[in-house]
Amino acid sequence: MPKCLYCQQDNAPGEADCQNCGMPLPERADGASERRQRRFLWFCIGLAVFCAVMILWLPRGSFG
Ligand SMILES: [Zn+2]
Repeated sequence: MPKCLYCQQDNAPGEADCQNCGMPLPERADGASERRQRRFLWFCIGLAVFCAVMILWLPRGSFG
């Protein structure tokens, strides 16, 4: 049962917004959070690839 972060109101599962104060609840629909997790995963992979390329590309000792 998602609890509102602002007024501590217990809301019915599946509600996107608080029934008491109308603020968005932390637990949203499953599809949206899954899509966000997948986008975050791809962001991490891209960042790791970017770091690997930069480490290989930059000449060693340039940071000293
Ligand atoms: Zn609330």
